[in-house]
Amino acid sequence: MASPAPLEIVAIPAFADNYLWLVHDPASGETAVVDPGDAGSVLAAAEARGWRIGQVWNTHWHPDHTGGNAAVVAATGAMLSAPAAEATRIANIDAPLKEGDTIRIGEHVGQVWEVPGHTLGHVALIFADAGVAFVGDTMFAMGCGRLFEGSPEQMHASLQRLAALPGDTALYCAHEYTLANARFAAHAFPADAAIADRLATVAAMREAGQATVPTSVALERATNPFLRAASVEQFAQLRTAKDRF
Ligand code: ZN
Ligand code: FE
Repeated sequence: MASPAPLEIVAIPAFADNYLWLVHDPASGETAVVDPGDAGSVLAAAEARGWRIGQVWNTHWHPDHTGGNAAVVAATGAMLSAPAAEATRIANIDAPLKEGDTIRIGEHVGQVWEVPGHTLGHVALIFADAGVAFVGDTMFAMGCGRLFEGSPEQMHASLQRLAALPGDTALYCAHEYTLANARFAAHAFPADAAIADRLATVAAMREAGQATVPTSVALERATNPFLRAASVEQFAQLRTAKDRF
């Protein structure tokens, strides 16, 4: 069977540095939104394209990812899929998500991975057929999420798991943190040419007002300092250093 037509994915900037992702499957006409922290911008972006939002997917409970859930559902009747482990913090979940579950948009099937660390119930949504992964606040371009709830062991394992996806997988992170992350990476690995090159590229892109997300698994393997940690201890040291940077 032929693989389904590619997904169309639109970045909706919100707040200071969030990206809310609108996901459209042209073959079926279905549309989903990932982490609608703000409803107004999401609804306006969908309407401008003539898309009707049928699903809301949350990666974790933080309000900048879920604050618009209720208003999007009220306006569209969309179905809410969100981490089962965070059901006490996310209201009105229709489809609680656990490791091994699938989510669908048209003929695209996404795998639900539990990637604890930033929060304990954080999930990533992996659409292998489309070469796309929604990783929320787990991995960022050249960075990773803060450990608000999970342990270094958990985050290290979550990052290594994402890093083992095919190199051409596009990683849709939820924040534009790349320039700050690149500066820390260059500080932590001052002799690294790949990191220095990417810092220069990212600085120029931001200067020009361009988004640096999505990133790719291959680019992160090459330049994300948190993927270089050879042990949990090294990872924990790097994460602490970044918190203080
Ligand atoms: Zn968060
Ligand atoms: Fe966030």
